[in-house]
Amino acid sequence: MTNNLPIQLNWKDPITGETRDPRLTPPIAFGREFVRMPPEYQGQRVTRMLLNHDEVSRFHALLEWQYNQLVVNDQGSVNGIYVNGQQLQHSVINSGDTLQIGPYIITVTYTIAATQPTNTPQVNNRPQISNSPQANIRGNSTIQFNPSTNLPDPSIPQPQQVTPLGSSFPPPIFQEQLVPVQGIHATGLPVDECEYLTVGGGLGSFIYVDLLRLSGVKTEKIITLGLDDQPYSRYKCLCLNSQIPLHERLRSNSDSCPDNIWGWPSYALREAWHDFIRGKVNNSAQYLWKVFAEPTFAETYTPRAGNVFDSIDRETKRIGWERMYRYGRVRAIRKTDDGRYCVAYSRGRGDHAFMVCRYLHLATGYPAIQFLPDLQAYREKYRDFKSVVNAYEDHNHVYQKLESQGGKVLIRGRGIVASRIIQRIYEARKKNPHITILHLMRSPKPQGNKFARAQRPVKNHFEFQPFNWPKACWGGDLRVMLEKASPDERQSLLAQWGGTTTADRIDWQNITEEGLSEGWYKIEFGKVTKVERDAQNRTITHIEEKGFGETTLDSDFIIDATGLDAKVEANPLLDDFVKHYHLPLNKMGRLEVANDFELLEMRNQKGKMYAAGAITLGGPYAAVDSFLGLQYCALRTVDALAKSRAPNLQRLNIFSSFGQWLKWALNQSPS
Ligand SMILES: Cc1cc2nc3c(=O)[nH]c(=O)nc-3n(C[C@H](O)[C@H](O)[C@H](O)COP(=O)(O)OP(=O)(O)OC[C@H]3O[C@@H](n4cnc5c(N)ncnc54)[C@H](O)[C@@H]3O)c2cc1C
Repeated sequence: MTNNLPIQLNWKDPITGETRDPRLTPPIAFGREFVRMPPEYQGQRVTRMLLNHDEVSRFHALLEWQYNQLVVNDQGSVNGIYVNGQQLQHSVINSGDTLQIGPYIITVTYTIAATQPTNTPQVNNRPQISNSPQANIRGNSTIQFNPSTNLPDPSIPQPQQVTPLGSSFPPPIFQEQLVPVQGIHATGLPVDECEYLTVGGGLGSFIYVDLLRLSGVKTEKIITLGLDDQPYSRYKCLCLNSQIPLHERLRSNSDSCPDNIWGWPSYALREAWHDFIRGKVNNSAQYLWKVFAEPTFAETYTPRAGNVFDSIDRETKRIGWERMYRYGRVRAIRKTDDGRYCVAYSRGRGDHAFMVCRYLHLATGYPAIQFLPDLQAYREKYRDFKSVVNAYEDHNHVYQKLESQGGKVLIRGRGIVASRIIQRIYEARKKNPHITILHLMRSPKPQGNKFARAQRPVKNHFEFQPFNWPKACWGGDLRVMLEKASPDERQSLLAQWGGTTTADRIDWQNITEEGLSEGWYKIEFGKVTKVERDAQNRTITHIEEKGFGETTLDSDFIIDATGLDAKVEANPLLDDFVKHYHLPLNKMGRLEVANDFELLEMRNQKGKMYAAGAITLGGPYAAVDSFLGLQYCALRTVDALAKSRAPNLQRLNIFSSFGQWLKWALNQSPS
């Protein structure tokens, strides 16, 4: 056993009841005040765990490896430390022992696998992202977004470094745990300050800022940093690429309105009114019937993409988004020595700046598009980016070619994106019937997932669910269940509720039925071993079929419809500050957040940091990556800020909420 193995800690927060189980590498300091705990100990970085309780001393105890033994030392605390119930100054900790610090009863478990320690000193004077082989493999099977265009770009091979070679930004002071504010000013680069900063500038940021504005915060106090001034820009791009044009319907409820925290008037009501005054009474009645009878007697209502974008446009103008938005690619985040956060960002090549804030919100969405490794290997070998594509990158050339010349398309993945691609090809077949689809799935799906007494229906190996989570995950009993669950239970609950499903749309089901009966749509099962190109430049997919050995499938195009990646390691910004502050990740490799979405280990005196969206999946809330989920997250975050008396912020009450709703209805500024 080496003496720098990570260990697993586990405890229930005595105040919130939440279970915490970070996996950390000693030395680990425990205490009530971050700045009182040492950032370094005997040349090693110390992980500082905040235990926010009066019975915990400012720097209470230190846990470290000493000659292959894990040892805890009391640091002169007022209330002492207890090992397996016995008060001791100094003790060896064995796997499974409990360590009590104030009201926190922490179980310590040794990890079995000797994973690479994360606290190796940095080899040069700049923050770095991991260059481990694992990171490279991940990087190679993803498509990154180009930081200049904000679009998916297959020519960017792997996550970029926070500080690329040849650059001196962020500056060396960013190696410190607490960056001195004076030092930031001393760099001579522009420094701005604000109370509330949100990083990302996408839908998560927009929904949070919207609620801040409704809660009384003025535009001068808020800044949003991002790569595009339209909050839905990245989202719209992914929708259009994955074949959701503006007139198509999304996969969210009528009352999931990113522009309207009350959810009323809902999108169904707005669309019904719009059609009614244009004389389309039947359509209007249909939308209203759907929201009344869904999902039992009618298909679930979902809004049109274009209507959602238009509504966000109206709200951005109303709340003064353009006055709060700044263009910038955020490169690194650090705590400052005065209880705030410093964000280092680039406004262009060689044009760098800093933003210092008290309350930091992070909503950076998906850092990359997942790409199946065998398809990535094919693209790298043949430099062919036209026949093998990802559903989330621009691949309209595929449909144009199919419409003009016909051809065979092989689809991988069977979620909602695959359904949309099939629908798009179905439309192309109307122009050219010589198009066929081969849908390759890993294994048959004879029956749907079961949870308690509920079971998802399955048809033609597609599993159906109106939304990507059962509805009770948003605000019902499943939300409460997940909040209360331990990290292990959360992982298993999420696996049972989520997974690959598609919307239960009758039109999609009819398309697959029609395709199967007419023979232009076929389903195959097998595990892909490799993908090659033949002499006619067609793709050849080698698959292993259970019990049948290896066979090959030829096609003109392959479309990967398997998904997006939001793991921390795929995002240089997150990866950097997670490593710098030794932050725990949740079981799904995303940021570990409390029930109010705070990153507790990033607390800095009065300064607080929150996260939203896909980067928090695996934590207390399932539907984090959805309009309503982002609204729920914003509500929890703003409530927590109001509770900690964040300045200029008033929690909405029945009167102020009604007043704000009236302003929304009359399209007046919130303040
Ligand atoms: C195709 C698709 C369809 C979906 N459909 C629905 C639906 O119908 N209903 C629903 O409720 N949800 C839907 N979702 C889920 C969810 O609502 C969206 O993913 C939503 O955009 C998430 O918001 P976000 O702020 O987390 O991420 P985004 O909206 O993607 O915003 C993140 C922003 O952060 C920026 N950023 C990242 N890193 C940095 C950095 N270092 N510096 C500066 N900026 C940075 C990015 O450029 C991006 O603009 C869908 C998602 C996808 C992909």
